[in-house]
Amino acid sequence: MVSPVDETVIASVPAASEEEVDEAIERASKAAASWAAVAPGDRARLLRRAADAVDGALEELAVLEVRNAGHTIANARWEAGNVRDVLAYYAGAPERHFGRQIPVAGGVDVTFREPLGVVGVIVPWNFPMPIASWGFAPALAAGNCVVLKPAELTPLTALRIAELCRDAGIPEDVFQVVTGPGSTVGWRFVTHEKVRKVCFTGSTEVGKRVMAGCAEQVKRVTLELGGKSANIVFADADLERAAATAPTSVFDNAGQDCCARSRLLVERSVYDRFMSLLEPAVRAFRVTDPAAEDAQMGPLISAEQRRSVASYVSEDAPVAFRGTAPEGPGYWFAPTVLAPVSPGDRAAREEIFGPVLSVIPFQDEEEAVHIANDTAYGLSGSIWTNDVSRALRVARAVESGTLSVNSHASVRYWTPFGGVKQSGLGRELGPDALDGFSEVKNVFIATGA
Ligand code: NAD
Repeated sequence: MVSPVDETVIASVPAASEEEVDEAIERASKAAASWAAVAPGDRARLLRRAADAVDGALEELAVLEVRNAGHTIANARWEAGNVRDVLAYYAGAPERHFGRQIPVAGGVDVTFREPLGVVGVIVPWNFPMPIASWGFAPALAAGNCVVLKPAELTPLTALRIAELCRDAGIPEDVFQVVTGPGSTVGWRFVTHEKVRKVCFTGSTEVGKRVMAGCAEQVKRVTLELGGKSANIVFADADLERAAATAPTSVFDNAGQDCCARSRLLVERSVYDRFMSLLEPAVRAFRVTDPAAEDAQMGPLISAEQRRSVASYVSEDAPVAFRGTAPEGPGYWFAPTVLAPVSPGDRAAREEIFGPVLSVIPFQDEEEAVHIANDTAYGLSGSIWTNDVSRALRVARAVESGTLSVNSHASVRYWTPFGGVKQSGLGRELGPDALDGFSEVKNVFIATGA
């Protein structure tokens, strides 16, 4: 593992062979019946203990993520806290994972929510901790065993969280972390018959391949994929607040966020005023050593990612203004605002996954909705207006799984999260997450004449 902050080698992690992946899946499969049979209250207690163990290691996990992924320390603390909260939230689920009793003639009809067996969770590098927990915590709560593959670049926190879960009493074979490349470890989750569901978060390109692979076995699959979310600012909005918060909505985590509001749509009548408010906010965005308490943005994850991001800011790109970034080692990239951008431009259509914002002017509500929806993606987005009717109209019209009005909040562990169109399939988090990790079984019991 190379630190993206200073390019030093910080650790090395083995790459599992296909045989080792198979062994892990076999162990999980053997453990599945006994884990499913654990009394709901006991499963709940183990998950609560795991939440406590993560809570006790919060700072250690956060520091590890700063080093491995270059996340700011403030973000990394939130991320470790999110794992704790997700575990604690789904610790409340086992005793409440109800079936139904449905009226029928001649007997009793009941439904059960049966665990799937072994669930494979595949995690990207941009939010290693939270995304892992959104898969493994509800999967375990529903009575499944989990094999989890972290991204090649960022496996360290997942390995530590698995240790903490083990120390908390969750049996070793019930939750395993297997490290290695996607093409061997991740793909084996897709092809191995004993993995009954794949919970994949990553790029749309790989997600499509995973879905096609899962189709071979009619394997359950959840996909959380890319995004190109719109932040729509209407003329009647609180422009000061919209401009002050816009940088965080796209530059947080150096823009390596599937929910990044990387298209900023601004009503033409306030365009100049809005840009004059945005510029100082972008220039003031603190890009520095992510271990610093006041850091707002660290480096990109890798040299390759920096090359890819830089390709969107070529010589002739319409750069309106930029923030600053440190010089020297580390994969730094200054926050960059492109404006005005046409909706058809490459920077307005592709997920850049870096700190590059495309500003697109619009004439009226109809055009704003049209531009917002003119994308293959549909993950997230924001709407800034003080007109409540418009807020609701636009929120209903924008094709996206998660939206916020006068805010950029996307993720709360107790509300559903996920995308429409090519941003994904299925929902994570929230009260219904266990539905995705169980099958409904219907049983009719005849009671006689
Ligand atoms: P990626 O698709 O390259 O990799 C994601 C994971 O899949 C990694 O663990 C990788 O090893 C594995 N993988 C790669 N090839 C595989 C294969 N053939 N079979 C099985 N697994 C394979 O994505 P990335 O570059 O790590 O992450 C960035 C992407 O993730 C972005 O597109 C981003 O938008 C998306 N993302 C989406 C969400 C969401 O919730 N919608 C959240 C975070 C990231």
